[in-house]
Amino acid sequence: MARTKLCTYMDMDFLKEPHYTAVQEQFDEVAELMKLDQNIRVRLRVPDRAFIIHVPIRMEDNIVRVVQGFRVQHNDTLGPFKGGIRYAPDVNLGEVASMAMLMTWKCALMGLPLGGAKGGICVDPTKMSRLELQRMTRRYTSELVSMIGPNQDIPAPDMGTNEQTMAWIMDTYSQAKGYAVHGVVTGKPISIGGSLGRTEATGRGVAYTVMEAAKYLEIPLGDAVSVAIQGFGNVGTHAAVKLSKIGCRITHLSDVSGGYLNPKGIDIELAMNYAKEHGNLKGFPGADTCSQIDVLTANADIVIPAATASQITKEVAEKMRCRILAEGANNPTTPEGDQILRERQNEIFVIPDILANAGGVTVSYFEWVQGLQNFFWSSKEVNRELAKIMTKAFQEVLTFHKERKVYMRIAAQMLAVNRVATAMLARGLYP
Ligand code: NAD
Repeated sequence: MARTKLCTYMDMDFLKEPHYTAVQEQFDEVAELMKLDQNIRVRLRVPDRAFIIHVPIRMEDNIVRVVQGFRVQHNDTLGPFKGGIRYAPDVNLGEVASMAMLMTWKCALMGLPLGGAKGGICVDPTKMSRLELQRMTRRYTSELVSMIGPNQDIPAPDMGTNEQTMAWIMDTYSQAKGYAVHGVVTGKPISIGGSLGRTEATGRGVAYTVMEAAKYLEIPLGDAVSVAIQGFGNVGTHAAVKLSKIGCRITHLSDVSGGYLNPKGIDIELAMNYAKEHGNLKGFPGADTCSQIDVLTANADIVIPAATASQITKEVAEKMRCRILAEGANNPTTPEGDQILRERQNEIFVIPDILANAGGVTVSYFEWVQGLQNFFWSSKEVNRELAKIMTKAFQEVLTFHKERKVYMRIAAQMLAVNRVATAMLARGLYP
């Protein structure tokens, strides 16, 4: 039996954490604008459940260390809870809860039969050995066995986790059940039921939304179009690959080691190989160095934050010069930064996170469907279906934005909240 602590709403301190209050305030605004049923509103403002797990790990030096892990399940009205697991040194319950709420909106916006959840462990995975990571992942999973499952809650990779992490989760869960349960996670290796195209899906999806936005703004995508990307991990690299394939110049890149600039266009394959070999872009010979802020405020047509939260502050938003801002990361903009972006919406076209980075969860959904049917698609089929869903969602948000004259972020959330609320009203309240 898991010894996980179930937070009661008596200890709701995490709901006062800045990331959480930011998404809650945004939800309040959306609820007000759409005159959302008060009974639905009070239920959606808080997550259904929040778990805190103290995970003991025997480190390589034989010392036992205890780290804090979380899983927050926001809402499962539309289907099983769904959301990534993040390993990062600054993860906290409030931030995880904020991302769980955004997952509910993201799945609803894409029309997926899934709810919203998120998980995380407060560690720096780059400072841990493979053995330590494996032990930690397996212990965290064993604590969650009764709360996750293919019809219950399906984790996926996020920052600091990858398909190997998902394989360990799947194996640990399967050991507990006594039989192989491939569908407990998505983003797993192909050899155990993963989907082709899942690894590339989020970055690719960001590129699809950029292509739609460029069409709307009548910006012909090609060599004349410059792109700046913050974060060169899973999302950043695959967005860069897709956009450079269609001819755009990636002029700015950054990762934890700093910013990199080449006005002629950075060779993405070279940068990927370099980062793979050296762990990050430090010392990359194919570009000059610049500051992290220079990347976000670059004089580029398209800017894609694809790293961590709260990067676009008021100061950054005031200095931004791009025409399209595609939020590859979750929550990359602070409320103060967003206020500026909203005031500047005629200059900067914002593709909000729940739309721009929804390619990952969309292909996770494809992976889940393929697993349930035991029938697997080609990467061409995956990418075709992904493009279809991303384009449809983009057009729905754009139409709503134009017809109702609301900011893109608000338009996306209004559409999403309406879908969840309609289903909640249909289901009613038990008892
Ligand atoms: P990742 O761990 O693969 O890569 C993160 C990258 O960001 C790394 O290159 C790292 O060096 C860089 N980075 C970290 N802090 C930075 C900083 N302060 N400045 C510049 N670069 C920094 O993570 P990922 O999976 O690519 O996720 C990136 C973002 O996209 C996160 O916000 C995540 O929640 C979001 N996201 C990811 C997925 C997915 O499928 N992986 C899906 C949806 C959203």
